[in-house]
Amino acid sequence: AYKGMELSKVKQVRSDNLNPALFTYYKKPLLVHQGHMQWLWDVDGTRYLDLFGGIVTVSVGHCHPTVRKRAEEQLGKLWHTTNIYLHPTIHEYAEKLTSTLPGNLKVCYFTNSGSEANDMAVLMSRMYTGSYDILSLRNCYHGASPYLMGLTALNTWRYNVPSGFGMQQTMNPDPYRGPWGGARCRDSPCQVQRSCDCAEGQCEAGDRYLEQLEDVLRFSMPKGKVGAFFAESIQGVGGTVQFPKNFLKRAFEKIREHGGLCISDEVQTGFGRTGTHFWGFEGHDVVPDIVTMAKGMGNGFPLAAVVTTPEVANSMGKALHFNTYGGNPLSCAVGSSVLDVIEEEGIQNNAHVVGTYFLSELEKLRDDFEIVGDVRGKGLMIGVELVQDKATKTPLPAEDVNSVWEDMKDMGVLIGKGGVYSTVLRIKPPMCLSMEDAKFSIAVFRRALENYTAK
Ligand code: PMP
Repeated sequence: AYKGMELSKVKQVRSDNLNPALFTYYKKPLLVHQGHMQWLWDVDGTRYLDLFGGIVTVSVGHCHPTVRKRAEEQLGKLWHTTNIYLHPTIHEYAEKLTSTLPGNLKVCYFTNSGSEANDMAVLMSRMYTGSYDILSLRNCYHGASPYLMGLTALNTWRYNVPSGFGMQQTMNPDPYRGPWGGARCRDSPCQVQRSCDCAEGQCEAGDRYLEQLEDVLRFSMPKGKVGAFFAESIQGVGGTVQFPKNFLKRAFEKIREHGGLCISDEVQTGFGRTGTHFWGFEGHDVVPDIVTMAKGMGNGFPLAAVVTTPEVANSMGKALHFNTYGGNPLSCAVGSSVLDVIEEEGIQNNAHVVGTYFLSELEKLRDDFEIVGDVRGKGLMIGVELVQDKATKTPLPAEDVNSVWEDMKDMGVLIGKGGVYSTVLRIKPPMCLSMEDAKFSIAVFRRALENYTAK
């Protein structure tokens, strides 16, 4: 039984002693007490199915027993030593982690958060290319440090201070919204579902968005040179936005033609989440020059990294670089164990099988309810965009989105929100989610939509 602070006291401390910019989900916030695999319990003992996993962070399950055992063993041996001494865990982990990556992505820099990793990637690309300008996509989220506030292109996360010098954006290749939303396929009406499935060379939306990228490279980059291009494989915070087919592949080619490095932010899409591949970028048939990762990497434990090629890493040898906690024995032991569990328990395949089923059932909801405008994603990286009506795609007002979202919570299912209008319900659960859980979630979702429609 729970013996901690009462909710009223917790709320008091939160308003008096914690960062006032923290946001809290739900009218009656959840005071969570325990987690196990895909489940969370609040202090009253009510169980919830966690479809958001602490914002896509719990990859193999809350308090996964294997990871926990490995962490406990490491806690009994050594928690900390900086890299001024050698310790085995970081080497075991670096070898295992790089073996999951293609090409020459062999050199790891361990950090403690995704923001730190992306900061590092910005620095590296500038050191390597000698170009200062960095390009990202509108609607992207890459972190919240002052450096990254200019790279992240969602104004909810930006303060009105000079930030992110040299950061520029190009149009987001959104096949649902945006000027070429609705992804017209030249040879047949392309009903964009799950992702753009235009045949090679037939995607008009993809072509138009690429022209925008080309324009930015040619006309706004100094001497047409760019330092780097950042993209997620599927946008997370931006609302599970998938790109037109081949967009990323052709974008990478263009960036390289303009002297830049290609950086994949795999903070949300990595570690098997997209089901078909271990890394989201593999689904786009590209090999980046730098990969950044965090969140699912440590199953919720603070652990992040930048992985790059020896050539890029060598450009960082001009000064010492040091991170006190980066690559500590405990987080490396956790990371290593997470990789073992993903393999031993077939986590990636589960994300594929359960995610594909989940998506196909959500498509039925889209067909049955006017407010379900779009269903998209891959594996267990899913978004459901709510609209007033399908024809105009006018965003559903916040109170209506919240009514569906709160209702689902009251029925025991926790789900995320995102997108520029906060109208995309995000399903990115611990990847141990079972078929039964998916069925239950769909039934709850349907009921919440029915309740909303009946109002
Ligand atoms: N990149 C992406 C794609 C993210 O979703 C996030 C966090 N939401 C970050 C980077 C930043 O990670 P962190 O919060 O660990 O700094």
